[in-house]
Amino acid sequence: MSSAERQARSRLTQLLSRRGFLRGSLLVRRMKCGKANCRCARGEGHESLFLVISENGRTRQLYVPKDWVSRVRLWVEDYHRARKLMEEISRIYWDKVRQRQD
Ligand SMILES: [Zn+2]
Repeated sequence: MSSAERQARSRLTQLLSRRGFLRGSLLVRRMKCGKANCRCARGEGHESLFLVISENGRTRQLYVPKDWVSRVRLWVEDYHRARKLMEEISRIYWDKVRQRQD
């Protein structure tokens, strides 16, 4: 195993054992709460965070409650980091096939 592969694998293992991960992207939307006397009635609306994923060609959205936002952000970031590392390792194996090298 090359040192590049060993490094990527160990970072991936560390990442996966640390906490959860979640595929999706975060979308901020501004929404009016509907209360006539709220400041948002005349302004831009309250910021709400949604988790968006596409699954079998369909897009799903999930509201993320305020007290979940920081957790969900970390899970989404870790999913992307893990994917990047998988991609790095995959490229190494692509080259192995291309160069017929085991
Ligand atoms: Zn409001």
